[in-house]
Amino acid sequence: HSVIHWFKRDLRTHDNKSLSLASQRAEREGVPLICVFLISEQDYEAHLTSPARVNLEIETVKILKADLEEKLDVPLYVELVGQRKDLPTRIIQLCEKFGARHLFCNIEYEVDELRREALLIRRCADDAGIDFTVVHDACVVQPGELATKQGKQYAVFTPWYKSWLAHIRNNEGEYLHIYEYPSRNHHSAKTKFKDIYVSSVPDAPARKALTNEEKNRLQELWPAGEHEALSRLQRFLDEKSGRYKVERDFPAADCTSLLSPYIACGALSARTIVKSAMERNDGSMDGRCSGIATWTSEIAWREFYKHVLVHCPYICMDKPFKLDYSDLRWEYNSSNFSAWCTGKTGYPLVDAAMRQLRHTGYMHNRCRMIVASFLSKDLLLDWRMGERYFMSQLVDGDFASNNGGWGFASSTGVDPQPYFRVFNPVLQSEKFDPDGVYIKKWVPELQNLYAPAIHFPYERGGGEIARRAGYPRPIVDHQEARKRALARYREALGRY
Ligand code: FAD
Repeated sequence: HSVIHWFKRDLRTHDNKSLSLASQRAEREGVPLICVFLISEQDYEAHLTSPARVNLEIETVKILKADLEEKLDVPLYVELVGQRKDLPTRIIQLCEKFGARHLFCNIEYEVDELRREALLIRRCADDAGIDFTVVHDACVVQPGELATKQGKQYAVFTPWYKSWLAHIRNNEGEYLHIYEYPSRNHHSAKTKFKDIYVSSVPDAPARKALTNEEKNRLQELWPAGEHEALSRLQRFLDEKSGRYKVERDFPAADCTSLLSPYIACGALSARTIVKSAMERNDGSMDGRCSGIATWTSEIAWREFYKHVLVHCPYICMDKPFKLDYSDLRWEYNSSNFSAWCTGKTGYPLVDAAMRQLRHTGYMHNRCRMIVASFLSKDLLLDWRMGERYFMSQLVDGDFASNNGGWGFASSTGVDPQPYFRVFNPVLQSEKFDPDGVYIKKWVPELQNLYAPAIHFPYERGGGEIARRAGYPRPIVDHQEARKRALARYREALGRY
């Protein structure tokens, strides 16, 4: 017999609740622990997972397999499964094949995944005689724990955050408990499951494959694995957290943690992050280092959006959180959309950010807000087009955070910026990239320009240089676009 832990977006050995519980169970029963990871090409297609993210995930699995097998004698079985609907059946078949009576996994909160787990729970109990344990792991405080005085889900971040902080403070032992590292399998596992040990991790499905050049570039930026994630966390706390509060909005300052790709694929747990941050901050979440306290609140945004997802699953079905905006009349101008995607809008900061995304799979948070506001308000393009494009490019693509960020910037989401607040892309550029350092890095056509021209060349005396370098003219007039957006948002709200 054996016990199985099913890896999904929890690709780590440290502080992994399901893995730790599965290991304890195996030890108690005196049977080996086996891990499985199934790659579904159809899942990647359905979620628009970017090739960058697929590649990071597969590289992370390779490291995980080596760690589990070499350090713990725990085999990790990896398989490509074509149809996502076959996943539950395949899991049950693997339990039968490996003689597992106990199956463990961490819960995933998106609608399709919840349905899949619900089906598997039924089939394990009714037909297969497998004891299936599904646990909360992705958040410090699990969805459903926090409610307003009226017993409802919070629709505003700040009161939710206060409640989240208080909840953790009052139950530190429970919420910040770090789960035990899995124990070593008995040597016999190695002989019994030797086929798994010698098997290799499959390559990415063809439609998600990267070229060698892309692979090398991305792996240099985002080296895979939980060891990298843990050392990035320490480096951030040591070197950057002190200036985070003041500099986090400046894309050229390099003062954020760059941890999002690791958190998204589960190479690092939210518990470990919050606990490590507290330990560096007088043991509390709002200690002397205001940088760490601010950072903790950003980590909490991720969690807030996951809670919202559980309470309002309709946001997984292409609907805005604020249903009032369901019928907003969007423009569907494909050449504007293509200019936005390729970083050729004539607004330098927007273009720099979109090119950073294409090149690195990542974009700075301030820039994500600016380009999302530009798409949904200046171009009046359906925010869902931007949301999907982001998923198809981001190395840290995460449904809840991406949907939440798009909802915020397009004013259609939970606790959004008000619809009449439209970022001025030129003023944002002057404020957050005053010397144009970030712009010059990603828009080489503007290398010979300086402030103020670099922020809006055709209007600020840099037109000739920009034209000669082939930099495009602005595709919209911001003031005109702003008026059009306000009118359409008011129309959707029935306020003419
Ligand atoms: P840090 O500033 O170091 O923050 C630490 C961690 O906190 C991040 O890694 C992330 O896990 C979390 N976090 C920080 N800010 C936010 C936020 N506003 N919302 C949710 N979580 C946050 N983040 C994703 O992880 N995946 C996405 O797909 C994603 N899409 C976004 C789309 C839009 C339109 C916007 C406005 C934001 C999006 N974000 C997304 C949030 C944020 O931009 C990134 O998490 C952040 O830029 C990652 O960089 P970092 O790790 O250096 O962040």
